Amino acid sequence: MPDPVPFADSPNRLFAVTVERRVRLSPAFVRLGLTGPGLAAFAPAGRDLRVKILLPGPDGYPATLADGLTEAAWRAAWRALPVAERPVMRSYTAPRADPDARRLDLDVYLHEPAGPASAWAAAARVGDPLLVSGPAPGAGDPDHGVQWLPGPATRLVVGADETAFPAVAGILATLGPDARATLLLEAADPADAAPFVDADDPRLDVTHVRRDGRPGGVPLLEAGRAWAERHGAGAAAAGAAFYGWFATESARVAELRRALLAVGLGADRVHTQGYWIDREGRARA
Ligand SMILES: Cc1cc2nc3c(=O)[nH]c(=O)nc-3n(C[C@H](O)[C@H](O)[C@H](O)COP(=O)(O)OP(=O)(O)OC[C@H]3O[C@@H](n4cnc5c(N)ncnc54)[C@H](O)[C@@H]3O)c2cc1C
Repeated sequence: MPDPVPFADSPNRLFAVTVERRVRLSPAFVRLGLTGPGLAAFAPAGRDLRVKILLPGPDGYPATLADGLTEAAWRAAWRALPVAERPVMRSYTAPRADPDARRLDLDVYLHEPAGPASAWAAAARVGDPLLVSGPAPGAGDPDHGVQWLPGPATRLVVGADETAFPAVAGILATLGPDARATLLLEAADPADAAPFVDADDPRLDVTHVRRDGRPGGVPLLEAGRAWAERHGAGAAAAGAAFYGWFATESARVAELRRALLAVGLGADRVHTQGYWIDREGRARA
């Protein structure tokens, strides 16, 4: 039997867009308002919907990467390029999409020192091109790229650093009136959480965890452990009525997952995800 085609069942396709607006949301966040005719065919799944962005090189994009290609096709075209010519690829969250208006927003955290994606976003100008891989309606699993899957749960805990604040906003937009959510938000500057979380929402119990110069993800790991010690057993006893979601630095979130499962939480009741990799930290270790 031939090998299966990678990403053959992905509902994602490539959208060629341009920057229409660039707004400074907070000290370290920019919102890029993107537009393109193809966005009429974007499936606005909301929540923590993950998209891939492919950054332009100095000469734009190779001709083989074009609007409308399926994920299987664009990845094959990307892999066929010489390594030095492959556009840099990164993951972002797209909870705010309006296919009728052919618009999509990305909120980019400008971390320091910047990598290619945050440097691109910091310098982006109106009219700059971008390729975004995201879902098309009816093309497959409508939850593809979505990890917030709480089922019937109304007792919730959500932990995030800045990179996951856009996902937190997408998640909060879907909460029902009965939901009660504990939020643990790590940031160097809590002002960066303000655009994403309504502090006056009575359904939310928000704790801001300051990074205070510590490595990213470490304060959230500590806060998550403290939450697990105090509330984990009760949350585990709540079964399907409880759901947890945490995203931060990869190694720290893996450690946090172990702590959450150690207090008895079911593996399907808590989603944990690495949103970035602390390469400097690994080099120091
Ligand atoms: C599913 C998913 C959704 C995401 N959604 C968003 C989103 O909506 N908005 C957003 O801003 N980010 C989001 N991220 C995180 C983003 O993909 C990473 O931060 C990515 O590494 C940024 O790429 P870069 O090219 O700027 O830096 P990279 O080239 O990846 O990294 C360069 C250097 O910067 C360091 N670095 C990377 N990220 C950070 C950070 N956050 N803090 C400190 N140092 C860092 C690395 O250790 C490395 O040394 C998401 C990630 C995932 C997996």
